[in-house]
Amino acid sequence: MRKPIIAGNWKMYKNFDEAVEFAEEVRDKIPSADKVDSVICAPAIYLPTLVDIATETDLAIGAQNMHYENEGAFTGEVSPSQLASIYVDYVILGHSERREYFNETDEAINKKVGAALSHGIVPIICCGETLEEKEAGKTEAKVVYQVTKALEGFKSEEVKHMVIAYEPIWAIGTGKTATAEDANHVCGFIRKTVGQLFGHDAANEIRIQYGGSVKPENIEELLSKEHIDGALVGGASLEVSSYLKLLEAA
Ligand code: PGA
Repeated sequence: MRKPIIAGNWKMYKNFDEAVEFAEEVRDKIPSADKVDSVICAPAIYLPTLVDIATETDLAIGAQNMHYENEGAFTGEVSPSQLASIYVDYVILGHSERREYFNETDEAINKKVGAALSHGIVPIICCGETLEEKEAGKTEAKVVYQVTKALEGFKSEEVKHMVIAYEPIWAIGTGKTATAEDANHVCGFIRKTVGQLFGHDAANEIRIQYGGSVKPENIEELLSKEHIDGALVGGASLEVSSYLKLLEAA
């Protein structure tokens, strides 16, 4: 049985006081980490404070991006070793907003996955199709390409501890969710691809989230599906009450 993982992606929202208040309020109310992995992926400047607040609780803290080099002349970037030095647990990699607005390539994402692993940070690797690609029947080809590229060169033993988030781009922040059947179909397809590349154990153990307008009203149906092991949630992770409802549903 795969343990569900619900990750909030705060994107570029919340000021410092709001971030602290949120984390202090949820940390004692979240379900046990035996049942669900509860993660908040916050803007980089809040990470040390949030990690402190979450210490010895069941709340885990993640970053939303990082560079793949450990150090160097990369103005404005944050490195994997810097994140590891403040005990960040997860990092979102290859989110469609980063691919679209910051020219993040599949090659860079592949390097970032390797960097995360070598620092003991769990990567949440995003993939998903545009509306155009969906309408042209290219969803499967797109996610297979992105997943294959992101995972290139890793071993089965490494892959099984990773998280993949299937996020159709047309569903992100739009209020339009993929139907639970469609989301499950694509997540199942991703699992099959992992199986072909890395074998049965990796396919069986890797956790695959759905993301794109997930909210308390639709999470139960999504999570009831065989291949959906959790959710990556933007808008609905910003309010304490709705974030807690998402965790409780898992
Ligand atoms: P959303 O964002 O839940 O607001 O659609 C999801 C995401 O971008 O990860």
